[in-house]
Amino acid sequence: MIKKILIANRGEIAVRIVRACAEMGIRSVAIHSDADRYALHVKRADESYNVGSDPLAGYLNARQLVNLAVETGCDALHPGYGFLSENAELARVCSERGIRFIGPSAEVISRMGDKTEARRSMIAAGVPVTPGTEDNLKDLQDALSEAERVGYPVMLKATSGGGGRGIRRCNSKEELEQAWPRVISEATKAFGSADVFLEKCIVNPKHIEAQILADSFGNTVHLFERDCSIQRRNQKLIEIAPSPQLTPEQRAYIGDLAVRAAQAVGYENAGTVEFLLADNEVYFMEMNTRVQVEHTITEQITGIDIVREQIRIASGLPLSVKQEDIEHRGFAIQFRINAEDPKNDFLPSFGKITRYYAPGGPGVRVDTAIYTGYTIPPYYDSMCLKLIVWANNWEDAMDRGYRALDDMHLHGVKTTEVYYQQILKNPDFRSGVFDTSFVDTHPELTNYSTKNKPEALALAIAGAIAAYAGL
Ligand code: ADP
Ligand code: ADP
Ligand code: MG
Repeated sequence: MIKKILIANRGEIAVRIVRACAEMGIRSVAIHSDADRYALHVKRADESYNVGSDPLAGYLNARQLVNLAVETGCDALHPGYGFLSENAELARVCSERGIRFIGPSAEVISRMGDKTEARRSMIAAGVPVTPGTEDNLKDLQDALSEAERVGYPVMLKATSGGGGRGIRRCNSKEELEQAWPRVISEATKAFGSADVFLEKCIVNPKHIEAQILADSFGNTVHLFERDCSIQRRNQKLIEIAPSPQLTPEQRAYIGDLAVRAAQAVGYENAGTVEFLLADNEVYFMEMNTRVQVEHTITEQITGIDIVREQIRIASGLPLSVKQEDIEHRGFAIQFRINAEDPKNDFLPSFGKITRYYAPGGPGVRVDTAIYTGYTIPPYYDSMCLKLIVWANNWEDAMDRGYRALDDMHLHGVKTTEVYYQQILKNPDFRSGVFDTSFVDTHPELTNYSTKNKPEALALAIAGAIAAYAGL
């Protein structure tokens, strides 16, 4: 069994992994840049090490990270999400140095991290895939003729892309010509590869993804699906489990497809198979070979601790559950509270959190690394808190979400919280029938006032608590 884990990440996911370690009696080692010296994951882990003054370099240096794991007596490394989590080199160096990588093998990561190779594997396995190119595009001429074949609109995509970047919808030949140099330059800058391909653009699809777990004994299960259709710029904002828009038959079909996809590539550990759903057709989009930001909502509806299962699998233990024992109950919703201004095209709003008061009460979970007085550094993701609510049915889950967003006080930076309350009041959202166009087709939802949540109220609550505690 794993005894000590180096957490090659930061922020809320590092805190999440520390929590799993603490419950399993495993020692945790955090890393941090200078900018992250005062971060919560550093304070919560058993040990922590500075990996350099540069805000990013230390989190992205595979060899240095594995050296540190060896030097500090760790026997495993958890990559979290983002950073090197889908980097085959990190998994390879870990296995060379006798450190267990908490994720799939380097071979599977490279295969699924390359979107065109993943598409070919899925076609071979009989999984329906979004129509598109089999290979990377050679040049603009190739792109134009492929687009003609597939039919506009098309999506031009970075082959090693992620996080919603390196994707552009092109409605015509002219748009494709314009997008071509931009996507290539974005892909090169963000992912270090100029490879691109194209897919048919599925118009107004639902983003449905299935969580899977696979152990080293050949057991693969799915934990049902998540609906991540509420997005801006191809990035998720609100996630729901299970999807309120699926029939039980569709749910079973998608779960089985995800298991088939994972088995086809010899997948081990936790992973997510992402699909698009439109007009009752399901298309494989990509597989994320790591823990997902929104794994939380699946934990809430199934009661299964996904990070714990990841660590167990990497320790060589079998899955603690069988498919027939996995059930889901009620609905869970995750709100990604981003330090961004929805009124200003979601422009990031970094800075000091002058006051934070956590929501609570029944069915409420918060995964975050922020606290009052913490300064959100400008170098990293703008997501600063995940608010997760659970209730027995869809209506109650939405009402609980609204209430929990009201409960929460986060001042000093602009955030998405009041915007989410507008979504929760919207009849189209409430009806449970929406697709990835929702944010763009409801621009009026950014016309809200934040006046009813003054910082004075948060201060008064803090004052009352301090007075009661005799501070
Ligand atoms: P999820 O797929 O778990 O919903 P996101 O797409 O929101 O996650 O990405 C989670 C984090 O990982 C974000 O900070 C995102 O920018 C980053 N990320 C995702 N994929 C990549 C990638 N291929 N390269 C670099 N960063 C990535
Ligand atoms: P990433 O690796 O950045 O997560 P994905 O391939 O998962 O990229 O796509 C991100 C989002 O972009 C999807 O959730 C969806 O909203 C949109 N998208 C991607 N491909 C298509 C497509 N072929 N048709 C329509 N929308 C798409
Ligand atoms: Mg994706």
